[in-house]
Amino acid sequence: MNFLEERIQKDGIVKPGNVLKVDSFLNHQMDIALIDRIGEEFYERFKDKKVTKVLTIEASGIAMAYAVARCFGVPMVFAKKSQSVNIDGDVYVAEVESFTHKNKNRVIVSKRFLSEGDHVLIIDDFLANGCALQGLISITESAGAVVEGLGIVIEKGFQFGGRAIRNLGYHLESLAIVESMDAESGTVVFAEQAR
Ligand code: 5GP
Repeated sequence: MNFLEERIQKDGIVKPGNVLKVDSFLNHQMDIALIDRIGEEFYERFKDKKVTKVLTIEASGIAMAYAVARCFGVPMVFAKKSQSVNIDGDVYVAEVESFTHKNKNRVIVSKRFLSEGDHVLIIDDFLANGCALQGLISITESAGAVVEGLGIVIEKGFQFGGRAIRNLGYHLESLAIVESMDAESGTVVFAEQAR
């Protein structure tokens, strides 16, 4: 088990409905040393790519994307959830269905912060059905920028998002892939990964 899988085993809580709670160390209270290490790990995995920007989605991706962007020495941009119906032409827009909240959010990124010529590393905390990542990919490509890779902290391998994105040919790295989990016993089983 790697450092993240160990932490998930120790402090993650499996909730009914296929939700893994990691709010004591990742997305409510944050273990800064762990998040720094996540940043370094993604840097190791993607350092051979040309990366000019790190892109994530608010709110819980921000800390991890910050840690990654710090290692690359590039800006981090986060897609904002926007309630406004009147979106002006200065933003890229994507519709993202939230796995945890079961609602749809319109997310936006200002055209000032992403453009043709950018090489983007997309980072998020969880990958379930892939809606959040698909939205970020669509925003990046609408800008004429290149998706260099996608880094996910926890992929739920039993949901279809990871397979769909890999099948599209993107380079997706997940630090932990949950193969199965059980709310009653609290067990989490991880997929074996090559590294
Ligand atoms: P997707 O768009 O891939 O279906 O879901 C990804 C988004 O949903 C992530 O940005 C994350 O915020 C949230 N999410 C999905 N599954 C889980 C989960 O098991 N636990 C938590 N805490 N968030 C999740």
